[in-house]
Amino acid sequence: MSNTKRKVAIIGAGIAGTTAGLGLVNAGFDVIIYSDRDQASLRNDVPPTGTAVYFGKSLEYDAEVVEDLYDIGTSTGMSVRIFSGTGETRTPVIEFDSAFNYRAQAVDTRLRADDRLSRFLARGGKFVVRAVTPEDLDAIAGDADLTLVATGKGGLSALFPVDPERTVYADPQRHLLLATFKELDRADHQFAYRSSDGARHNWFNIHADFGETFFGPYLHKDLGATRAFIGFAKPGSPWIDIFNTVTDTQSARDAVVKLFATYFPEDVELIDQLEPLHEDPHSWLLGAVPPTVRRAVARTKSGHAVAAIGDAAVSFDPLGGQGAQNAIVQSVLLIRALREHKDKITYEWLQDQFNKHWDHRAEAATEVTRLFLGDEKYKTHAELLFQAAAVNAKIGSAFFDFLSEPQPLLGIQSREQIDNFIANLAGEAAETVLARFKAPSQLARANALERVTVLS
Ligand SMILES: Cc1cc2nc3c(=O)[nH]c(=O)nc-3n(C[C@H](O)[C@H](O)[C@H](O)COP(=O)(O)OP(=O)(O)OC[C@H]3O[C@@H](n4cnc5c(N)ncnc54)[C@H](O)[C@@H]3O)c2cc1C
Repeated sequence: MSNTKRKVAIIGAGIAGTTAGLGLVNAGFDVIIYSDRDQASLRNDVPPTGTAVYFGKSLEYDAEVVEDLYDIGTSTGMSVRIFSGTGETRTPVIEFDSAFNYRAQAVDTRLRADDRLSRFLARGGKFVVRAVTPEDLDAIAGDADLTLVATGKGGLSALFPVDPERTVYADPQRHLLLATFKELDRADHQFAYRSSDGARHNWFNIHADFGETFFGPYLHKDLGATRAFIGFAKPGSPWIDIFNTVTDTQSARDAVVKLFATYFPEDVELIDQLEPLHEDPHSWLLGAVPPTVRRAVARTKSGHAVAAIGDAAVSFDPLGGQGAQNAIVQSVLLIRALREHKDKITYEWLQDQFNKHWDHRAEAATEVTRLFLGDEKYKTHAELLFQAAAVNAKIGSAFFDFLSEPQPLLGIQSREQIDNFIANLAGEAAETVLARFKAPSQLARANALERVTVLS
Protein backbone atom coordinates (compact mmCIF):
# COMPACT_ATOMS: atom_id res chain seq x y z
CA MET A 1 0.00 0.00 0.00
CA SER A 2 1.40 3.43 -0.86
CA ASN A 3 2.03 5.96 1.87
CA THR A 4 -0.96 8.30 1.81
CA LYS A 5 0.19 10.47 4.71
CA ARG A 6 0.06 14.16 3.91
CA LYS A 7 3.48 15.82 3.88
CA VAL A 8 4.30 18.84 6.03
CA ALA A 9 7.51 20.87 5.96
CA ILE A 10 8.28 23.19 8.87
CA ILE A 11 11.14 25.67 8.83
CA GLY A 12 12.51 26.54 12.29
CA ALA A 13 12.67 24.52 15.51
CA GLY A 14 11.75 27.05 18.21
CA ILE A 15 8.57 26.77 20.30
CA ALA A 16 6.33 27.33 17.26
CA GLY A 17 8.05 24.89 14.90
CA THR A 18 8.49 22.06 17.41
CA THR A 19 4.93 22.41 18.77
CA ALA A 20 3.40 22.32 15.30
CA GLY A 21 5.77 19.50 14.30
CA LEU A 22 4.95 17.28 17.27
CA GLY A 23 1.23 18.01 17.04
CA LEU A 24 1.14 17.18 13.32
CA VAL A 25 3.15 13.96 13.71
CA ASN A 26 0.68 12.98 16.45
CA ALA A 27 -2.15 13.79 14.01
CA GLY A 28 -0.72 11.35 11.42
CA PHE A 29 1.15 13.71 9.08
CA ASP A 30 4.54 13.00 7.57
CA VAL A 31 6.57 15.93 8.94
CA ILE A 32 10.06 17.28 8.27
CA ILE A 33 11.46 20.09 10.42
CA TYR A 34 14.29 22.09 8.87
CA SER A 35 16.51 23.94 11.34
CA ASP A 36 19.61 26.07 10.88
CA ARG A 37 21.04 24.45 14.07
CA ASP A 38 21.25 20.85 15.21
CA GLN A 39 19.46 19.74 18.35
CA ALA A 40 22.43 20.20 20.70
CA SER A 41 23.19 23.65 19.30
CA LEU A 42 19.55 24.76 19.65
CA ARG A 43 19.79 23.85 23.31
CA ASN A 44 23.31 25.00 24.18
CA ASP A 45 24.59 27.69 21.83
CA VAL A 46 21.86 30.33 21.88
CA PRO A 47 19.97 32.30 24.53
CA PRO A 48 16.30 31.51 25.10
CA THR A 49 14.15 33.52 22.66
CA GLY A 50 12.37 35.02 25.68
CA THR A 51 11.16 34.12 29.15
CA ALA A 52 7.99 32.78 27.55
CA VAL A 53 5.73 32.49 30.58
CA TYR A 54 2.53 30.59 29.84
CA PHE A 55 -0.27 32.29 31.76
CA GLY A 56 -3.13 29.88 32.38
CA LYS A 57 -5.12 29.10 29.24
CA SER A 58 -2.15 28.47 26.94
CA LEU A 59 -1.16 25.56 29.22
CA GLU A 60 -4.47 23.93 28.26
CA TYR A 61 -3.76 24.38 24.54
CA ASP A 62 -0.23 23.07 25.03
CA ALA A 63 -1.57 19.93 26.73
CA GLU A 64 -3.22 18.97 23.42
CA VAL A 65 0.28 18.49 21.99
CA VAL A 66 2.48 17.44 24.89
CA GLU A 67 1.87 16.41 28.48
CA ASP A 68 3.01 18.90 31.14
CA LEU A 69 6.61 17.89 31.81
CA TYR A 70 7.58 20.56 34.32
CA ASP A 71 6.89 21.14 37.99
CA ILE A 72 9.40 23.97 38.41
CA GLY A 73 8.86 27.52 37.14
CA THR A 74 5.30 27.77 38.39
CA SER A 75 4.02 31.10 39.69
CA THR A 76 0.69 31.87 41.33
CA GLY A 77 0.40 35.65 41.28
CA MET A 78 1.93 39.07 40.72
CA SER A 79 3.20 41.59 43.26
CA VAL A 80 2.92 45.02 41.65
CA ARG A 81 4.60 48.25 42.72
CA ILE A 82 4.48 51.50 40.79
CA PHE A 83 6.70 54.51 41.48
CA SER A 84 7.23 57.93 40.00
CA GLY A 85 10.05 60.47 40.29
CA THR A 86 13.70 59.94 41.21
CA GLY A 87 15.96 60.64 44.17
CA GLU A 88 14.26 62.93 46.69
CA THR A 89 11.09 63.09 44.61
CA ARG A 90 10.72 59.31 44.21
CA THR A 91 7.22 58.35 45.37
CA PRO A 92 5.33 55.06 45.55
CA VAL A 93 2.12 55.42 43.57
CA ILE A 94 0.41 52.03 43.87
CA GLU A 95 1.02 48.64 45.46
CA PHE A 96 -1.00 45.46 45.18
CA ASP A 97 -0.37 41.74 45.32
CA SER A 98 -2.74 39.64 43.20
CA ALA A 99 -3.29 35.91 43.12
CA PHE A 100 -3.72 34.55 39.58
CA ASN A 101 -7.00 32.76 38.86
CA TYR A 102 -4.80 30.19 37.05
CA ARG A 103 -1.34 28.67 37.12
CA ALA A 104 1.50 30.31 35.22
CA GLN A 105 4.61 28.49 34.08
CA ALA A 106 7.97 29.89 32.99
CA VAL A 107 10.13 27.25 31.30
CA ASP A 108 13.29 27.87 29.29
CA THR A 109 12.24 27.95 25.62
CA ARG A 110 15.34 25.89 24.77
CA LEU A 111 14.15 23.11 27.09
CA ARG A 112 10.56 23.20 25.85
CA ALA A 113 11.69 23.06 22.22
CA ASP A 114 14.27 20.33 22.95
CA ASP A 115 11.70 18.13 24.72
CA ARG A 116 9.27 18.59 21.83
CA LEU A 117 11.92 17.82 19.25
CA SER A 118 12.95 14.59 21.06
CA ARG A 119 9.33 13.43 21.15
CA PHE A 120 8.86 14.45 17.51
CA LEU A 121 11.87 12.33 16.49
CA ALA A 122 10.76 9.39 18.64
CA ARG A 123 7.40 9.41 16.81
CA GLY A 124 9.00 9.26 13.39
CA GLY A 125 9.35 12.97 12.55
CA LYS A 126 12.33 13.89 10.34
CA PHE A 127 14.83 16.61 11.20
CA VAL A 128 17.11 18.24 8.63
CA VAL A 129 19.83 20.70 9.65
CA ARG A 130 19.91 23.38 6.99
CA ALA A 131 19.56 27.17 6.89
CA VAL A 132 16.66 27.40 4.44
CA THR A 133 16.92 30.16 1.82
CA PRO A 134 13.91 31.58 -0.08
CA GLU A 135 15.00 29.45 -3.08
CA ASP A 136 15.13 26.31 -0.90
CA LEU A 137 11.70 27.19 0.44
CA ASP A 138 10.27 27.20 -3.07
CA ALA A 139 11.54 23.65 -3.69
CA ILE A 140 10.53 22.45 -0.20
CA ALA A 141 7.01 23.86 -0.59
CA GLY A 142 6.71 22.29 -4.04
CA ASP A 143 7.24 18.88 -2.47
CA ALA A 144 4.91 19.29 0.54
CA ASP A 145 1.15 19.48 1.04
CA LEU A 146 1.71 22.15 3.71
CA THR A 147 4.71 24.37 4.47
CA LEU A 148 4.94 26.33 7.71
CA VAL A 149 7.53 29.04 8.28
CA ALA A 150 8.44 29.22 11.99
CA THR A 151 11.73 31.08 11.73
CA GLY A 152 11.00 33.70 14.39
CA LYS A 153 11.20 37.48 14.13
CA GLY A 154 14.08 37.42 11.63
CA GLY A 155 14.72 34.44 9.40
CA LEU A 156 12.31 34.06 6.53
CA SER A 157 9.63 36.31 8.08
CA ALA A 158 10.47 39.01 5.52
CA LEU A 159 8.67 36.87 2.91
CA PHE A 160 5.44 37.86 4.65
CA PRO A 161 4.63 41.56 4.15
CA VAL A 162 3.79 43.65 7.20
CA ASP A 163 0.03 44.19 7.51
CA PRO A 164 -0.30 47.95 8.03
CA GLU A 165 -3.92 47.68 9.20
CA ARG A 166 -3.12 45.27 12.01
CA THR A 167 0.33 46.63 12.98
CA VAL A 168 0.02 49.37 15.60
CA TYR A 169 3.62 50.56 16.07
CA ALA A 170 6.36 51.39 13.58
CA ASP A 171 9.17 50.94 16.15
CA PRO A 172 10.06 48.86 19.21
CA GLN A 173 8.34 50.25 22.32
CA ARG A 174 10.87 48.98 24.86
CA HIS A 175 14.58 48.17 25.11
CA LEU A 176 14.95 44.79 26.77
CA LEU A 177 17.34 43.14 29.17
CA LEU A 178 16.71 39.50 30.05
CA ALA A 179 18.85 37.72 32.64
CA THR A 180 18.53 34.55 34.70
CA PHE A 181 19.88 34.07 38.22
CA LYS A 182 20.35 31.31 40.77
CA GLU A 183 17.44 30.74 43.12
CA LEU A 184 17.84 32.31 46.56
CA ASP A 185 18.13 30.34 49.79
CA ARG A 186 14.99 30.33 51.93
CA ALA A 187 13.23 32.02 49.05
CA ASP A 188 9.74 31.88 50.56
CA HIS A 189 10.92 33.65 53.69
CA GLN A 190 12.91 36.21 51.72
CA PHE A 191 10.02 37.09 49.40
CA ALA A 192 7.37 37.24 52.14
CA TYR A 193 7.56 41.03 52.46
CA ARG A 194 6.22 41.33 48.90
CA SER A 195 3.57 38.68 48.71
CA SER A 196 1.18 36.39 50.50
CA ASP A 197 2.53 33.43 48.55
CA GLY A 198 6.23 33.94 49.18
CA ALA A 199 8.50 33.20 46.27
CA ARG A 200 5.65 31.98 44.03
CA HIS A 201 4.46 35.46 43.14
CA ASN A 202 6.25 37.28 40.34
CA TRP A 203 7.24 40.88 40.83
CA PHE A 204 6.17 43.63 38.46
CA ASN A 205 7.97 46.83 39.44
CA ILE A 206 7.05 49.81 37.32
CA HIS A 207 8.57 53.25 37.07
CA ALA A 208 5.91 55.51 35.57
CA ASP A 209 8.40 57.36 33.35
CA PHE A 210 11.25 54.94 32.69
CA GLY A 211 9.90 51.42 32.27
CA GLU A 212 8.99 48.14 33.91
CA THR A 213 10.70 45.12 35.45
CA PHE A 214 9.51 41.54 35.77
CA PHE A 215 11.11 39.06 38.16
CA GLY A 216 9.81 35.56 38.73
CA PRO A 217 10.31 31.80 39.16
CA TYR A 218 11.85 30.07 36.13
CA LEU A 219 12.92 26.60 35.08
CA HIS A 220 16.37 26.80 33.49
CA LYS A 221 17.19 23.99 31.03
CA ASP A 222 20.19 22.69 33.03
CA LEU A 223 20.11 24.37 36.43
CA GLY A 224 16.46 23.88 37.34
CA ALA A 225 14.87 26.33 39.78
CA THR A 226 16.14 29.83 38.99
CA ARG A 227 14.79 33.41 38.75
CA ALA A 228 14.17 35.24 35.50
CA PHE A 229 14.49 39.02 35.26
CA ILE A 230 13.29 41.17 32.36
CA GLY A 231 13.84 44.91 32.21
CA PHE A 232 11.72 46.95 29.80
CA ALA A 233 13.14 50.46 29.21
CA LYS A 234 10.99 53.08 27.51
CA PRO A 235 12.53 55.03 24.61
CA GLY A 236 14.82 57.72 26.09
CA SER A 237 14.85 56.05 29.54
CA PRO A 238 18.08 56.29 31.59
CA TRP A 239 17.73 52.52 32.06
CA ILE A 240 18.98 52.02 28.50
CA ASP A 241 22.48 53.18 29.55
CA ILE A 242 22.42 50.64 32.39
CA PHE A 243 21.34 47.85 30.02
CA ASN A 244 24.05 48.81 27.55
CA THR A 245 26.77 48.02 30.12
CA VAL A 246 25.86 44.33 29.86
CA THR A 247 28.34 42.10 28.05
CA ASP A 248 28.18 38.85 30.04
CA THR A 249 26.45 37.08 32.93
CA GLN A 250 28.32 39.04 35.63
CA SER A 251 27.67 42.48 34.12
CA ALA A 252 24.00 41.50 33.64
CA ARG A 253 23.79 40.78 37.37
CA ASP A 254 25.55 44.07 38.19
CA ALA A 255 23.19 46.02 35.90
CA VAL A 256 20.11 44.54 37.57
CA VAL A 257 21.47 45.39 41.04
CA LYS A 258 22.24 48.95 39.91
CA LEU A 259 18.74 49.33 38.48
CA PHE A 260 17.11 48.25 41.73
CA ALA A 261 19.53 50.27 43.91
CA THR A 262 18.59 53.44 42.01
CA TYR A 263 14.92 52.95 41.18
CA PHE A 264 13.55 50.24 43.51
CA PRO A 265 15.76 50.43 46.63
CA GLU A 266 13.15 48.69 48.82
CA ASP A 267 14.07 45.45 47.05
CA VAL A 268 17.79 45.89 46.61
CA GLU A 269 18.85 43.88 49.64
CA LEU A 270 17.21 40.84 48.13
CA ILE A 271 18.36 41.58 44.57
CA ASP A 272 21.93 42.10 45.79
CA GLN A 273 22.06 38.43 46.79
CA LEU A 274 21.46 37.25 43.23
CA GLU A 275 24.20 35.20 41.62
CA PRO A 276 24.68 34.97 37.86
CA LEU A 277 24.46 31.68 35.97
CA HIS A 278 28.11 31.49 34.91
CA GLU A 279 27.38 27.89 33.86
CA ASP A 280 25.24 29.24 30.98
CA PRO A 281 26.97 32.06 29.07
CA HIS A 282 23.70 32.48 27.11
CA SER A 283 21.54 33.21 30.16
CA TRP A 284 21.16 36.89 29.27
CA LEU A 285 19.88 38.83 26.28
CA LEU A 286 19.67 42.45 25.11
CA GLY A 287 17.25 43.52 22.41
CA ALA A 288 14.06 45.20 21.29
CA VAL A 289 11.09 43.76 19.44
CA PRO A 290 9.27 45.77 16.76
CA PRO A 291 5.66 44.64 17.36
CA THR A 292 4.62 43.46 13.92
CA VAL A 293 1.63 41.70 12.39
CA ARG A 294 2.36 40.15 9.01
CA ARG A 295 0.13 38.88 6.23
CA ALA A 296 0.83 35.38 7.39
CA VAL A 297 0.27 33.54 4.12
CA ALA A 298 2.54 34.10 1.10
CA ARG A 299 3.48 32.45 -2.17
CA THR A 300 6.96 31.28 -3.11
CA LYS A 301 8.51 32.15 -6.49
CA SER A 302 6.73 29.26 -8.19
CA GLY A 303 3.44 30.08 -6.51
CA HIS A 304 3.33 27.55 -3.65
CA ALA A 305 1.42 28.74 -0.59
CA VAL A 306 3.39 28.95 2.67
CA ALA A 307 2.07 30.03 6.08
CA ALA A 308 3.91 31.76 8.92
CA ILE A 309 3.42 30.71 12.56
CA GLY A 310 4.74 32.08 15.87
CA ASP A 311 6.91 35.21 15.84
CA ALA A 312 7.27 34.92 12.05
CA ALA A 313 3.56 35.77 11.80
CA VAL A 314 3.01 38.11 14.76
CA SER A 315 5.71 39.49 17.06
CA PHE A 316 4.65 41.21 20.27
CA ASP A 317 6.44 43.50 22.64
CA PRO A 318 7.21 41.03 25.47
CA LEU A 319 5.72 43.30 28.16
CA GLY A 320 2.31 41.65 27.70
CA GLY A 321 3.77 38.11 27.74
CA GLN A 322 1.87 37.06 24.61
CA GLY A 323 4.39 35.79 21.98
CA ALA A 324 4.95 32.17 22.96
CA GLN A 325 1.36 31.80 24.13
CA ASN A 326 0.15 33.07 20.78
CA ALA A 327 2.46 30.63 18.97
CA ILE A 328 0.99 27.72 20.95
CA VAL A 329 -2.62 28.75 20.39
CA GLN A 330 -2.01 29.35 16.67
CA SER A 331 -0.31 25.95 16.28
CA VAL A 332 -3.05 24.09 18.15
CA LEU A 333 -5.88 25.77 16.22
CA LEU A 334 -4.12 24.85 12.98
CA ILE A 335 -3.60 21.23 14.07
CA ARG A 336 -7.28 20.95 15.04
CA ALA A 337 -8.36 22.37 11.68
CA LEU A 338 -5.99 20.10 9.73
CA ARG A 339 -7.38 17.02 11.47
CA GLU A 340 -10.78 17.91 10.00
CA HIS A 341 -9.70 19.28 6.60
CA LYS A 342 -9.13 16.43 4.15
CA ASP A 343 -9.07 18.49 0.93
CA LYS A 344 -6.12 20.24 -0.69
CA ILE A 345 -4.51 22.85 1.55
CA THR A 346 -4.77 26.04 -0.46
CA TYR A 347 -3.61 29.64 -0.05
CA GLU A 348 -7.22 30.68 0.69
CA TRP A 349 -7.70 27.93 3.30
CA LEU A 350 -4.50 28.97 5.09
CA GLN A 351 -5.53 32.61 5.00
CA ASP A 352 -8.88 31.67 6.48
CA GLN A 353 -7.10 29.82 9.31
CA PHE A 354 -4.94 32.86 10.10
CA ASN A 355 -7.97 35.14 10.12
CA LYS A 356 -9.71 32.76 12.53
CA HIS A 357 -6.64 32.83 14.79
CA TRP A 358 -6.57 36.63 14.57
CA ASP A 359 -10.20 36.78 15.68
CA HIS A 360 -9.78 34.08 18.33
CA ARG A 361 -6.66 35.42 20.04
CA ALA A 362 -4.02 37.39 18.14
CA GLU A 363 -5.93 40.67 17.87
CA ALA A 364 -6.86 40.58 21.55
CA ALA A 365 -3.27 39.66 22.47
CA THR A 366 -2.12 42.74 20.54
CA GLU A 367 -4.58 44.92 22.46
CA VAL A 368 -3.56 43.48 25.84
CA THR A 369 0.04 44.27 24.96
CA ARG A 370 -1.03 47.87 24.27
CA LEU A 371 -2.71 47.98 27.68
CA PHE A 372 0.49 46.85 29.40
CA LEU A 373 2.56 49.28 27.33
CA GLY A 374 0.40 52.13 28.63
CA ASP A 375 -0.66 53.02 25.09
CA GLU A 376 -2.73 56.22 24.90
CA LYS A 377 -5.78 54.11 23.94
CA TYR A 378 -5.58 52.26 27.29
CA LYS A 379 -4.34 55.03 29.64
CA THR A 380 -7.69 55.25 31.45
CA HIS A 381 -7.93 51.47 31.72
CA ALA A 382 -4.51 51.24 33.33
CA GLU A 383 -5.12 54.11 35.74
CA LEU A 384 -8.53 52.91 36.93
CA LEU A 385 -7.81 49.19 36.99
CA PHE A 386 -4.55 49.57 38.90
CA GLN A 387 -6.20 51.80 41.49
CA ALA A 388 -9.16 49.45 41.80
CA ALA A 389 -6.80 46.45 42.08
CA ALA A 390 -5.07 48.14 45.00
CA VAL A 391 -8.31 48.15 47.02
CA ASN A 392 -10.02 45.01 45.75
CA ALA A 393 -8.19 41.69 45.33
CA LYS A 394 -10.67 40.33 42.78
CA ILE A 395 -9.96 43.21 40.42
CA GLY A 396 -6.20 42.62 40.53
CA SER A 397 -6.73 38.94 39.71
CA ALA A 398 -9.16 39.82 36.90
CA PHE A 399 -6.63 42.29 35.47
CA PHE A 400 -4.09 39.47 35.13
CA ASP A 401 -6.75 37.23 33.55
CA PHE A 402 -6.12 39.29 30.41
CA LEU A 403 -2.66 37.66 30.14
CA SER A 404 -4.32 34.25 30.02
CA GLU A 405 -7.46 35.11 28.04
CA PRO A 406 -7.05 38.49 26.32
CA GLN A 407 -10.35 38.33 24.39
CA PRO A 408 -12.61 39.99 27.02
CA LEU A 409 -10.55 43.20 26.79
CA LEU A 410 -12.05 43.81 23.33
CA GLY A 411 -15.44 44.26 25.02
CA ILE A 412 -14.09 46.72 27.61
CA GLN A 413 -13.29 49.86 25.71
CA SER A 414 -15.37 52.83 26.91
CA ARG A 415 -15.18 54.45 30.34
CA GLU A 416 -18.62 53.02 31.06
CA GLN A 417 -17.46 49.50 30.20
CA ILE A 418 -14.43 49.87 32.49
CA ASP A 419 -16.68 51.06 35.32
CA ASN A 420 -19.03 48.11 34.73
CA PHE A 421 -16.09 45.68 34.75
CA ILE A 422 -14.97 47.05 38.14
CA ALA A 423 -18.50 47.18 39.56
CA ASN A 424 -19.34 43.62 38.49
CA LEU A 425 -16.26 42.27 40.20
CA ALA A 426 -16.55 44.41 43.33
CA GLY A 427 -20.32 44.19 43.80
CA GLU A 428 -20.48 47.96 44.27
CA ALA A 429 -20.20 51.05 42.09
CA ALA A 430 -16.81 51.69 40.49
CA GLU A 431 -16.89 55.20 41.96
CA THR A 432 -17.20 53.72 45.48
CA VAL A 433 -14.32 51.32 44.87
CA LEU A 434 -12.05 54.02 43.43
CA ALA A 435 -12.88 56.46 46.24
CA ARG A 436 -11.17 54.07 48.68
CA PHE A 437 -7.86 54.24 46.83
CA LYS A 438 -4.98 56.09 48.52
CA ALA A 439 -1.39 56.08 47.33
CA PRO A 440 0.89 54.30 49.84
CA SER A 441 3.37 56.52 51.65
CA GLN A 442 5.89 53.78 52.36
CA LEU A 443 6.47 50.23 51.16
CA ALA A 444 7.89 47.19 52.93
CA ARG A 445 11.60 46.60 52.38
CA ALA A 446 13.57 43.43 51.79
CA ASN A 447 15.16 41.78 54.78
CA ALA A 448 12.74 43.31 57.23
CA LEU A 449 12.38 40.73 60.00
CA GLU A 450 8.63 40.90 59.86
CA ARG A 451 6.20 41.86 57.16
CA VAL A 452 5.88 45.64 57.46
CA THR A 453 2.37 47.04 57.25
CA VAL A 454 1.98 49.59 54.49
CA LEU A 455 1.31 53.00 55.98
CA SER A 456 -1.21 55.01 54.09
C1 LIG B 1 12.54 39.27 26.78
C2 LIG B 1 11.41 38.42 26.25
C3 LIG B 1 10.44 37.94 27.13
C4 LIG B 1 9.36 37.19 26.65
N1 LIG B 1 8.39 36.78 27.52
C5 LIG B 1 7.32 36.09 27.07
C6 LIG B 1 6.29 35.63 27.96
O1 LIG B 1 6.36 35.84 29.17
N2 LIG B 1 5.26 34.92 27.44
C7 LIG B 1 5.17 34.65 26.11
O2 LIG B 1 4.19 33.99 25.70
N3 LIG B 1 6.12 35.07 25.24
C8 LIG B 1 7.18 35.77 25.68
N4 LIG B 1 8.15 36.18 24.81
C9 LIG B 1 8.02 35.83 23.39
C10 LIG B 1 8.47 34.39 23.09
O3 LIG B 1 9.73 34.12 23.64
C11 LIG B 1 8.49 34.18 21.58
O4 LIG B 1 7.26 34.64 21.04
C12 LIG B 1 8.64 32.72 21.17
O5 LIG B 1 9.70 32.10 21.86
C13 LIG B 1 8.85 32.67 19.65
O6 LIG B 1 9.03 31.35 19.21
P1 LIG B 1 9.21 31.02 17.66
O7 LIG B 1 9.33 29.54 17.59
O8 LIG B 1 8.17 31.69 16.87
O9 LIG B 1 10.57 31.72 17.22
P2 LIG B 1 12.10 31.41 17.61
O10 LIG B 1 12.23 30.96 19.01
O11 LIG B 1 12.86 32.63 17.20
O12 LIG B 1 12.52 30.18 16.69
C14 LIG B 1 12.85 30.30 15.34
C15 LIG B 1 13.85 29.23 14.97
O13 LIG B 1 14.03 29.24 13.55
C16 LIG B 1 15.40 29.14 13.24
N5 LIG B 1 15.64 29.72 11.91
C17 LIG B 1 15.65 31.04 11.58
N6 LIG B 1 15.86 31.20 10.26
C18 LIG B 1 15.98 29.95 9.73
C19 LIG B 1 16.20 29.45 8.42
N7 LIG B 1 16.33 30.27 7.38
N8 LIG B 1 16.27 28.11 8.25
C20 LIG B 1 16.14 27.25 9.28
N9 LIG B 1 15.93 27.67 10.55
C21 LIG B 1 15.84 28.99 10.78
C22 LIG B 1 16.06 29.93 14.38
O14 LIG B 1 17.44 29.60 14.53
C23 LIG B 1 15.23 29.46 15.57
O15 LIG B 1 15.74 28.24 16.10
C24 LIG B 1 9.23 36.93 25.26
C25 LIG B 1 10.22 37.42 24.37
C26 LIG B 1 11.29 38.16 24.86
C27 LIG B 1 12.32 38.68 23.90
